[in-house]
Amino acid sequence: MTTMGSRRDFLEKLSISAISLPILYSPAQLFAASIEPYEGPVLRVAIMGLGSYGTRVAKAMESCKRAKLVGLISGTPSKVVDWRAKYGIPEKNCYNYSNFDAIKNNPDIDAVYVITPNGLHKDQVIRVAKAGKHVICEKPMGINAKEGQEMVDACKAANVKLLVGYRMHFEPKTVEVIKMRKNGEFGELKFFQGLSGFVIGDPTQWRLNKELAGGGAMMDIGIYSINGARYMLGEEPIWVTAQETKTDPVKFKEGVDETIQFQMGFPSGAVASCLSTYAMRHLDRFFLSGEKGFVEMKPSTGYGPIEGKTHKGELTQPHITHQTLQMDGMAQLIFEGVQPIVPVDGEEGLKDLKIIDAIYKAVKTGKKVDL
Ligand code: NAD
Repeated sequence: MTTMGSRRDFLEKLSISAISLPILYSPAQLFAASIEPYEGPVLRVAIMGLGSYGTRVAKAMESCKRAKLVGLISGTPSKVVDWRAKYGIPEKNCYNYSNFDAIKNNPDIDAVYVITPNGLHKDQVIRVAKAGKHVICEKPMGINAKEGQEMVDACKAANVKLLVGYRMHFEPKTVEVIKMRKNGEFGELKFFQGLSGFVIGDPTQWRLNKELAGGGAMMDIGIYSINGARYMLGEEPIWVTAQETKTDPVKFKEGVDETIQFQMGFPSGAVASCLSTYAMRHLDRFFLSGEKGFVEMKPSTGYGPIEGKTHKGELTQPHITHQTLQMDGMAQLIFEGVQPIVPVDGEEGLKDLKIIDAIYKAVKTGKKVDL
């Protein structure tokens, strides 16, 4: 199984040591890649943070037509040796966390993909922007809206693109549902439910460290339900309410949320009811209900295949490795200005951070928070 479920299972068992999971390519993907020659510009990317997800992105990029892994930024020399051999990366394109500002003088790198712990994103993204390179940053873009705004401003000032690793915005079944929603096929939308969670393992990992993670499950996995509610309903929430449950205060220290239930209200009157947790297994489900129809997706945001059905029947779009689609899509965005169906820019990342801030405030105050 190559679903995010399997990653989440791994995270339950393993520490932060690099995890390399096999990635399966669908026949459709291999076929498409083999028949369509591409001669346009290729986005030359350096990955910063050669951990579990960086490993997955690098592998997926082998199937990209428009993007190529050409550089590395890592604090672990032995990983650099391995990755250089595996991906044929020249030594001159390798940096560490102290010297990567020098990437400014490297004409062979167009963009840096920041795949490090959440709490490091802001400073790293701003340094990359100042070096004049486009930045792709993993979710959550930062650990609060203030950070997010600084990142957006810095990239604007440096005249570089800031993109966030929202891979679901390129995923075919998700895109189909969004198209159906835009075409009014579900009628007036009334309700969204998002369940996002897994059981986290090793208590010493950065995901359970407030400084590095910025919070707990909400930052890591709850964000999928927040972002999902927005793209499934096609609206921005105007209020949130939220309640936290903590069953293990030793593992989930102050500021590291274990489970949060939250609700969001939208201008149309639609509501969302969501669950974010590090304490329940295999929680990966979206449900959307409108006056004319519904969609249920499960898994909804894992690595796929995503599965789902609507009032019209099963969703049958092909599974293509999400990160391959994402990186080709982002290259197209950078070179040709082609926008995905839902934005993946810094403003989009900032919207989720503002909602996360409001959810934490609602938990703390027990009050409804207006956005
Ligand atoms: P990981 O622990 O496997 O990798 C993190 C990498 O950062 C490691 O190589 C580590 O050496 C490096 N690092 C640099 N400075 C560090 C420090 N001070 N402390 C700890 N590690 C440090 O984590 P991951 O699962 O690869 O997650 C990295 C980022 O990717 C996170 O922001 C996470 O939310 C995001 N992510 C996104 C998805 C997705 O589907 N979009 C999936 C997994 C992770």
